[in-house]
Amino acid sequence: MIDPFGRHITYLRVSVTDRCDLRCVYCMAEHQTFLPKKELLTLEELERLCGAFIEKGVRRLRITGGEPLVRKDVTRLIGRLGARLGDSLDELTLTTNGSQLARHAHALAEAGVKRINVSLDTLDAARFRAITRWGELGQVLAGIDAAQAAGLKIKINTVALRDLNRGEIPQMIEWAHGRGMDLTLIETMPLGETGADRVEQYLPLSLVRADLARCFTLDDIDYRTGGPARYVRVAETGGRLGFITPLTHNFCESCNRVRVTCTGTLFMCLGQEDAADLRAPLRASQDDALLSAAIDAAIARKPKGHDFIIDRRHKAPALARPMSMTGG
Ligand code: SAM
Ligand code: SF4
Repeated sequence: MIDPFGRHITYLRVSVTDRCDLRCVYCMAEHQTFLPKKELLTLEELERLCGAFIEKGVRRLRITGGEPLVRKDVTRLIGRLGARLGDSLDELTLTTNGSQLARHAHALAEAGVKRINVSLDTLDAARFRAITRWGELGQVLAGIDAAQAAGLKIKINTVALRDLNRGEIPQMIEWAHGRGMDLTLIETMPLGETGADRVEQYLPLSLVRADLARCFTLDDIDYRTGGPARYVRVAETGGRLGFITPLTHNFCESCNRVRVTCTGTLFMCLGQEDAADLRAPLRASQDDALLSAAIDAAIARKPKGHDFIIDRRHKAPALARPMSMTGG
């Protein structure tokens, strides 16, 4: 699959549910309404959809959500996708909040998953509850222990929040690097109504980097994972630190990815509204010809880049769709 700007689309992120057991303040409203279960693709349909993308050249799959590990039997889907690793698929990964990881780590490793991303914004239990509205930090830490014991490599994703975790970021870096985990910092993106004030939370990573430069030596490195993060090596810890700054345009030109929601809607860009319905062609026939044509038509419309801007005056999200719909 090659889009109008010559970019090869080889990476698919699949959201398997819009539900979550947490309510992170930058992601969801406290009383978030979720889709009726009948709207969701079945696990079999999700597998068929992923298969169609793999046929068309996708080599890396990331399972996300909502919280992917709250979907019933999701490890069955991951096992079936894992069976395609090798010839047609290079990598199968997962992004999770870690709350259910202790139960599932072993099954993930068995399925052929080698690396996972765990989202964690603080190591303070009270602050963790404030950010996630009711989460238990201990559960996530136990999940990380179980995943490492199962042999999974972990990258920690941390959203930088002005009032909630700014002062704690150096300590989180030391903790992650001390356990052999990379850590990537993410700027908040203006997606979805969360009931929280985004302008209040927004913390540019340029400021974080300046903070960090006071306690660490940050050496730019060429390391890339095919994603938007830019990395530095922290001399004092020897570990890698990534920065994802979505409000700048530094990664659109090399974008190799598309995202599909749990209802089979394909988003060609995280920061644009345009989308294609793949559920109708998927359900119209057992033959993949219609589905394949719908995917081709969508890729031919992949936009050059995103349009994120925080509307500071109205404090409104740039896009009505929350991050939990496409999984980041
Ligand atoms: N529930 C899983 C988790 O938290 O890892 C997977 C889905 S979550 C939507 C994926 C990532 O998006 C998480 O790292 C989360 O911190 C990030 N995220 C959610 N809302 C965001 C926002 N408005 N801006 C920036 N990152 C956001
Ligand atoms: Fe749930 Fe992940 Fe969104 Fe937090 S960021 S509410 S864990 S989907």
